[in-house]
Amino acid sequence: MRFPEGSFERTAREVAAAPLALFECGVCWQVYDPTEGDVINQIPAGTAFADLPEHWCCPGCEAAKERFLLLDDGHD
Ligand SMILES: [Zn+2]
Repeated sequence: MRFPEGSFERTAREVAAAPLALFECGVCWQVYDPTEGDVINQIPAGTAFADLPEHWCCPGCEAAKERFLLLDDGHD
C-alpha cells in the first residue's frame, strides 16, 4: 500500500496507536475489522475499535464491547 507524500508522519503515528488492530469477540469469535467497520451497527469503515461508541456490542451475539480481545496478528 502506498501513501501520498507528506502523509507518512501522520500514518506512522496512527500505526503506533494501532488503529487498525483487529478485535475478536470472546463469546462467539466474531472479529471486528476496523477497515470494514460494522454494517450491522452502522459503524463506518475506518473506525478503530477504541473509537467505537460505548453502547456498541458484538454484531454476532450482542456481547458487550469489553468482551472483545485484541487479536495479535502483527508478529510472525
Ligand atoms: Zn460475539
